[in-house]
Parts: sequence; C-alpha cells; structure tokens
Amino acid sequence: MNPTTLIKHGAVVLLAFLLNVACSPSGDNQPSTSVEPSSDGPRGAIDDARINNAASEPGNWLAHGLDYREQRFSPLSQINRETVTQLGLAYELDVGSNDALEATPIMVDNTLFFTSTFSIVHAVDAATGVELWRYDPEVPRDFLRKACCGPINRGVSVYEGNVYVATLDGRLVAINAGSGERVWEVDTVIDRDRFYTITGAPKTAKGKVFIGNGGAEFGVRGYVTAYDAVTGEQIWRFYTVPGDPSLPFEHPEMELAATTWKGGSWWEVGGGGTVWNSIVYDPEFDQVYLGVGNGAPWTRIIRSPGGGDNLFLSSIVAVDADTGKMNWYYQTTPGDNWDYTAVQDMTLADMTVDGEERKVLLQAPKNGFFYLLDREDGELLRAHPYVKTTWATHVDMETGRPVENPETDFSEEAKWVLPGPLGGHDWQAMSFDESKGVMYLPAQDFPFIYSIDEEFKKTGYFKRNPGTTNLGIDIANSSILAEQMADSAPTAKGYLKAFDPISGEEIWSVDHVHYWNSGVMASAGGLVFQGDGLGFFSAYNTDTGEKLWTYNTYISMLAPPISYEIDGTQYVAILAGTGAVENFVGETNETAAQKYGNFGKLLVFKLGGDAVLKEPRIRDRTIPEQPPLVASAEQLLRGEQQYNVVCGGCHGANARAAGIIPDLRMMGDGKHAIFKEIVLDGVLAAGGMASFADVVTPEDAENIRQYIISRANIDRAEAQELGAAAGG
Ligand code: CA
Repeated sequence: MNPTTLIKHGAVVLLAFLLNVACSPSGDNQPSTSVEPSSDGPRGAIDDARINNAASEPGNWLAHGLDYREQRFSPLSQINRETVTQLGLAYELDVGSNDALEATPIMVDNTLFFTSTFSIVHAVDAATGVELWRYDPEVPRDFLRKACCGPINRGVSVYEGNVYVATLDGRLVAINAGSGERVWEVDTVIDRDRFYTITGAPKTAKGKVFIGNGGAEFGVRGYVTAYDAVTGEQIWRFYTVPGDPSLPFEHPEMELAATTWKGGSWWEVGGGGTVWNSIVYDPEFDQVYLGVGNGAPWTRIIRSPGGGDNLFLSSIVAVDADTGKMNWYYQTTPGDNWDYTAVQDMTLADMTVDGEERKVLLQAPKNGFFYLLDREDGELLRAHPYVKTTWATHVDMETGRPVENPETDFSEEAKWVLPGPLGGHDWQAMSFDESKGVMYLPAQDFPFIYSIDEEFKKTGYFKRNPGTTNLGIDIANSSILAEQMADSAPTAKGYLKAFDPISGEEIWSVDHVHYWNSGVMASAGGLVFQGDGLGFFSAYNTDTGEKLWTYNTYISMLAPPISYEIDGTQYVAILAGTGAVENFVGETNETAAQKYGNFGKLLVFKLGGDAVLKEPRIRDRTIPEQPPLVASAEQLLRGEQQYNVVCGGCHGANARAAGIIPDLRMMGDGKHAIFKEIVLDGVLAAGGMASFADVVTPEDAENIRQYIISRANIDRAEAQELGAAAGG
C-alpha cells in the first residue's frame, strides 16, 4: 500500500470511527457470543490526556505499564493484606494456545484487550470473561522458524478508538476497538531476506505509533519506526546500529555510532541492536526512550575485532517524539559480548537523589546492574548490582562504565558467566512504589557457558548462516561443554526482590524453585503479585516478602498481572502460559508445564470469587521404546552438534523439551518413519514445523534422529531404574 492509498484509507477509517462514536457499537459487527460493552460510549477511547490523567481513573489500566510512567503500581486497595485470603477465581478463559502468553492486558471502560500466541488479539468483557471479538492476523505458522523465542507477543496499545498490534511476521496492524475489524496494516520490515520478528507491544502517544523488532540472534540490524496512528504513514525511523559503511548514513547519529565499530564486517551479520521490548514516551520531555538490544553476533571479537563500544548496542537512547532525533544516550554495556540487552522495561519517576529533586528513569537490564538515570540529559546517578554479576566487578561512577572482570574473559577458553543470556532480569515486568522508592522485580541467576565459535577459533573467519542463528558462540558444543564443566556450574535460581535503587540495598528477597517466573505488580493494598514456574499465583507482603495468599493455577506463568475495578469490585488478572527461552533451556525442575502441559488461559480473581478451575491433565512423560540405534560415535557427535545448532532452540537442550514444544524423545515409530519428510520437506509446516532443508543435509537429518534415539535410550533407562528403585 503506498502512502496516498494509506491516507485515503485512513480518511475512510477516521470517518468510520467518527460514525462509530455517534452510534453505540452495533450487533452487526459482533460474533454471536458477544455482549454489549457494560459502559457507555465507544470502545478504546483513550487519548494522551486520559493517559496523562490516569490517576483520576484508578479502575482502568490504560497503557502497557498502566500509564506513561510505566510504574505498574495499582492504586487499588480493596484486595489488601487483610482481605487477600478471600481472593478467589472470578473466571477463566481458555485462549487456545500452548506457548507463552506474555501480554499485559489493557483494561478500559470494562473491556480487556490482550494478545495470545501468533499475535492474535482478544477483546473480552472484563467483568464476565465473555469474548467480544477476536482478530487473527493470520501469521503463517511456519514463521516460527524465524522467531528466536516462540510465537509470543507482549500485547497491544489502545488509542483513539483503535487497537494496535505488531505481528510476529513484522506487520503493524490497526484494528477498530469496537468492531474488531482491520483499519490499516503496514509492513515494518526493511529486508524480508532477514529473520525479523516483532513480539513487543506497540506504544502510542502524540498521534503516533512506535514499534521496533527482534531478530538479533539470527542476524539483523535494529531500528524503531514511528507511524501516524490514523493513517499508518511512516513519520520517522531511527536505526540503532550503523549499516554497510559503503552506503550513506541514514541519519547523523549513525555517523557517530560508526566511529565505535572497528574492523570486521558486522553489517553482513546485521550488527543487532534490536528494540524488541521497551519503548517509553515521556510527556515531560516530549521524548521517547528506546531500550536497545544486544550485538549480532554476540561476540565482539567477531563483530568488531578492532574494539570500540559499538553504539548503540545495550543502550538507552532518548529521541525526540516528533522527529526521531537523538537527545542523549547511555550505554549500559559498551562492546556487548554476552547478549546483555538493555531492552528491559523502563520506569519513569520523580525521586530525591543526593538531596536534589530529579526526574529519573529506572532500568534493570540483563547485565545485572540496576541503573538510575536523569531523564533530562541521561546523567548516570546510580548503578548497583541487583543479582550476582561475575562479568564485571562494578560500574565506575566517574566514567559511567562497567569494569570488566578478567577472570571471566572467555576469549581464550570457555567460562561460566553470571548473568547469562537470560539476564539477571529479562522482559518480565517490574513494579515501582514511588512513595517508598522501592522496586519489586523478578530476577534470576542463570549461568551460561560462553565460548567462542569453534569454526572461528580454527579459521579466524565467521561465515553468516542465513538460515539459522549467528551468535559467534560455540552452541554446537554447548551441551558437551556443560557436561565437562558441570562441577563449577553456578546454581540456576529465581527470585522476587524488593530493591532500593538509590542505596542498592536488597530489602527482601523471596527464593523461587524455578529460575523463570512471571512479571510482578504491586498495589496500594500492600501486596505484590507474582506467578511462578510451578504454576502458583501468589500475593506477598510488600514490606516483608511474606507470602499471604497462593493459588495453584497448574500453569507456569511469565506475563505480568494487572488490576482493575468495575462497579466497586477490584479484579486481578494474569495471562498464564510459559515458553519462549524455556523451550531452549529445555527440561528443568518440576514446572507446571512439565507436569500438566501448557494450555494458555486468562485467569481473573476477585474477593469471594468462587469459580472452579478446570481440572488439569497430567502429562504422560514415559519415553517410549526407540527404533534401532545404528549410528557410529562420530555420527552421534555430529548429530548432537547439529541438533544443538538447529533444533535445540525450540525442542530443548539435550533433546529434553520443556513441556511445550514436542519432546522428540517421545516420537513414535510413525514420526521416526517420516523424520526426513518432516525436517526436509516441511510436511508439518502448517503446525509450525517448517522445512530446514536449507540448513540440514539428509545425512545430518539422520544423524540428528540417531542422536535423539541415543538420548532417549539413556533417559529411558534412567527413568526405569528410578522407577524400579521407587517400586522396590
Ligand atoms: Ca538477545
């Protein structure tokens, strides 16, 4: 669609919207199960003024982080430390997905708007759970292959009568909030030969929609685009890393960035710097903060062998909302070497720092340090570790730079490092109590073995593989290295922490069994809510961390809870369902996903709620008898390496899946018989398993299958031994 068509189309849409304002939403546009919205007026009538004055309507949850400040602190207090024991299920809604649900629902005027997997948008009556409409952007299911972390989506923005969703395959779509019908759609992807994906929620302000993308693991160049909210017309685009140096700079900031990349040919792999999660509009300075991701490839010795900071990787960049021109930047991890994205949620606040009133930005990026910046100019005010960090000893407050730890330098030999690529904190939302100056955040120690790509070590040359990940890390031998270095492995663990960003003090910390848990929401009721990997949704005392209420949902959770109020009743809602990097890590602990599978649901709670949760199904995890193992030791090693490079990202490290994507040890004879047709011919593409014929040879397909058989035989024997011991 060209811009002129877009404008014309936009005008029609605007007219349709205005007409919609005049009449109540008509039954014509509704599915048969629909009900009228329980409030007057059109759905989704949110504008800048309303979000700025969000405090005057505490019953709604108007934007991704509640309002423009993104503190995610609910002002509601009907559910509090005294009443929380009466909290029960109001309703559940099966959303028909079996991968991670990561969205923050928007709740406005009694309607919930949220996404499930494959970027499907749902509008639901917030009091009853009745679905009003559903919009499926029809993302091709085999696009999964191009996504690092499953078919996930972190939600919509609702603005001026439209619902905006960005799709896994890189489209930005405006949907009429009343009817659920598409208004306009644009393709945000600059190069369709690259594996660009979008999982983040679009942000809206000042008549614009802001959206970035992901894909750095496969090798792309990051950028953020602003579109006209009414027409979809492009307004500005900000690249986060420089492109091919033989071509002109797209904007002046690229000239500055290019001086910090030295040697190598990063643009061939892509450079990275994707803005896949946090974009925050700040009305006080009329600027947009972009949280920029890691380098592509991860390792700087390959990406920029001459050194340099590699701007704007792992940075927070403030750009003018109208022009996209940069006002300032702060780089959390100069010369990123570890997948240390700074895409994690950013919170805006006013705080007294060293006796001075400051307008601050708070972020806990993957690298393990909690940053406090002045929003006006990006001045670094604090940088305290919030988890164990072994890659750097501290941040030098004079230079604003981390001081790297030579003991964990992995340029010569493989090293365990904390945090790993999951970060000390990832995208799971944190929640800030501004009155107390306390951040509640989900955190984890998740160690990783960093080791330079074996081929590069041998040849000094890194060849981009267009069909798979390009990390520059020795993924092929990762499971072998992990076995060899098991004795020195730090323990993986998850936490809920109450953290003081000024003093760096950990006020309290709750240990979780699993490393990967949900986002959090604190409230004026003195509670902080979080779901965990074992399937328990709990409320903790904000002062002490004491668990005051817990509910077994039988579903592992990642998404953040929200709270809202309708007709004097407070509700707490969370989307339940795990996946994403959990798939890559594979089988671990006794998560709900392992025990019961992973059927995504919207769960909504209220005081006195007495709805009865549907019984979970217990998964049969018995590994079946395997076909003959005929491969040589050499073929098995090759199969293991190829499995880890091509298959492990979804089906789990060591061929042990997380309970979400199929566990290949469970394949029956039928699947074994057509293994090559599945891997090479794409016979299961409609279910999300694309053909990998461009990266897997027929011999390797057989080597991979043989490796799976050998792994299954070992694990089956072990399980039988355990079973016999337990039985006898
Ligand atoms: Ca990454």
